[in-house]
Amino acid sequence: MGELLSCVGLSKEYNEAENSVTVLSNLNFSINKAEQVAIVGSSGSGKSTLLHLLGALDKPTQGRVLFEGKNIFEFSQRQQAQFRNQSLGFVYQFHHLLPEFNALENVAMPLMIGKVSIKESNQRASAMLEKVGLANRSLHKPSELSGGERQRVAIARALVTEPQLILADEPTGNLDQKTGESIYQLLSDLRTQMQTSFVVVTHDIKLASRLDRSLNLIEGTLTANDVSGI
Ligand code: ADP
Ligand code: MG
Repeated sequence: MGELLSCVGLSKEYNEAENSVTVLSNLNFSINKAEQVAIVGSSGSGKSTLLHLLGALDKPTQGRVLFEGKNIFEFSQRQQAQFRNQSLGFVYQFHHLLPEFNALENVAMPLMIGKVSIKESNQRASAMLEKVGLANRSLHKPSELSGGERQRVAIARALVTEPQLILADEPTGNLDQKTGESIYQLLSDLRTQMQTSFVVVTHDIKLASRLDRSLNLIEGTLTANDVSGI
């Protein structure tokens, strides 16, 4: 299977006044097409920082992120915006759905932003809601949905543009264990259907064991994490 993304010597320090904090130190790893990788780390270990770098939302102190062989930090602003809209999808711990719009409108939003017609956006959003098992909830607003349903809508929104890579920041962090399990099952089903790669950062080692591969983020360094027995 081909490589989709790789990090080469990726480091991130925050420099504030006299305080310099090294959050990520010389990370080297890659992700294949259609591979689902978990990055496990405790709170404050740098998980969100890493995802921001992978999404070109922040710049590293050193190193490169190559997406399909191209260094994303050398993209122009316009190319970066296009990269985020077309190649990536984001899922957060708190769903970040727009409260005044229903599920269908929330899912259609990235397509509309990408200048797809309203009719086609709605058709594709509707098909995506069906894939995540929420066809019968499309006209409900986020406040009328359960936590697990909201996260399904957020996943549908991330996938509707058919990106190659989803970056998920503690997607089950706000859910009970059983609902969290169902979200991981959904990710697994979607990968089979859509061949999407996922980087999921989490502190939940049990859920991480459901993905193809798990890496530990400790003191700024990544190591393989054997979760096969969990
Ligand atoms: P996690 O997502 O694993 O909880 P973060 O990536 O949010 O961790 O943060 C990692 C470390 O970097 C923390 O010690 C945090 O305080 C620090 N940090 C994050 N963002 C900034 C920032 N903008 N300026 C300074 N320090 C930051
Ligand atoms: Mg975080």
